Amino acid sequence: MPKYIPEPFRIKVVETIKKTDRAEREEILKQAGYNIFNIPSEKVYIDLLTDSGTGAMSDNQWAGIQTGDESYAHCRNWYHFEQAVQSMTGLKYIIPTHQGRVAENILFSTILKKGMFVPNNNHFDTTRANILANGGIPLDLVIDEGKDPQKYHPFKGNMDIGKLESVLNEHGPKNVPVVFITITNNSGGGQPVSMENIRQVRDVCDRFGVPLFFDACRFAENAYFIKQREVGYSSKSIPEIVHEMFSYVDGCTMSAKKDAIVNIGGFMAFNNPNLLDPFREKLIQIEGFPSYGGLAGRDLEAVARGLIEAQDEDYLAYRVGQVKYLGDLLEKGGVPILKPTGGHAVYINALKFSPHISRDQFPGQSLVVNLYLESGIRAVEVGSLMFAQKDSTTGKIRYPNLDLVRLALPRRVYTGGHLEYVAESVIRLYKNRESLRGMRILDHHDSPLRHFFARLSFL
Ligand SMILES: *Cc1c(COP(=O)(O)O)cnc(C)c1O
Repeated sequence: MPKYIPEPFRIKVVETIKKTDRAEREEILKQAGYNIFNIPSEKVYIDLLTDSGTGAMSDNQWAGIQTGDESYAHCRNWYHFEQAVQSMTGLKYIIPTHQGRVAENILFSTILKKGMFVPNNNHFDTTRANILANGGIPLDLVIDEGKDPQKYHPFKGNMDIGKLESVLNEHGPKNVPVVFITITNNSGGGQPVSMENIRQVRDVCDRFGVPLFFDACRFAENAYFIKQREVGYSSKSIPEIVHEMFSYVDGCTMSAKKDAIVNIGGFMAFNNPNLLDPFREKLIQIEGFPSYGGLAGRDLEAVARGLIEAQDEDYLAYRVGQVKYLGDLLEKGGVPILKPTGGHAVYINALKFSPHISRDQFPGQSLVVNLYLESGIRAVEVGSLMFAQKDSTTGKIRYPNLDLVRLALPRRVYTGGHLEYVAESVIRLYKNRESLRGMRILDHHDSPLRHFFARLSFL
């Protein structure tokens, strides 16, 4: 029996969730155009759509909310926020934003010029979009092991150092304004990056004189993997590991909706004083005054407290343990998943789950829709519906390497019992997989955002 690490908290406020019956869900799906983004959340029993902004705040964070100082300039919570980020990262200047993507927008609209390259292990969608919107070219340089869904590697999020050197040699450091590392590598399955790899990337950046930034959304989960898997770190504390990780970078962007365990928030942190004025001016233009960004004083306080809680080792053992537990249960039931499981989600390989459904008939989306229909669970497709695109020259459709279904776990929200219900539901569906039918899009448009809006039907 897979092992479950018990919750290092007890529950003192509860939110009722209701099961619907199958007939009701059939009607809801029809209304929603078989797109789970259109389903009212009250009609979802277990919601694994995302781990972003869906976490449960602690009593300590809620208490902090009550201390919100809503003065326009330099409220007391700003100082707590600034201090929390500075002491955690060792970075000097802090720009608060309401989400991670605004930090990306401010960064890239300031430092990026048309035709420049930005390497990363794997760019997250919003990072890629912000680079493209500013005329830049995003490059994904994750190691080959990171692209193989079956291969075990302790740090599948690592950057390929040889490829990074080639990019810098080929294009020259002047055309690479920043190198990014995403910790953990979200688009690559929430896989961690080793301290050794971070250090090696730092060395390359030093040699070429290029700054290095983290996309730091899941820094704490990454630190936990380093402690578990990397030689020399087992006796270090999580805050020590976090501090060392950040000591190698010149800055970071962060969505606090992930490892700061808040429902809204983000920031950018950096050391270069020349960037402070342009960043602040852009911030005032699109978010707000530099001591609150797009946030209320109370939100700043919740982030300051959440950053500390996320580095608690018992919490991280339970958190990463939950993902592994769900993965182990599914694997035991024969369900094809991406291995090893990462820090925040389990990914089902839909091409193996439903090999009888072809790529153009959305095997991942079919699995997502059937999982809701049968069990009231909301997952999300990360495959053909999200990424397939028409090649503008040949007119042919290019498919992503994999068709995945992501089961993302909100932080501190669901119990082991919920996860067992999810595993049983997926396994039951797997046993009946031959009955799953393919799908087609009804209202066709070739937007990269079509997965949010498209209406579909079964074939
Ligand atoms: C969520 C996320 C972002 C964007 O953050 P938002 O708060 O959603 O704007 C950027 N990078 C990664 C890796 C993320 O997971």
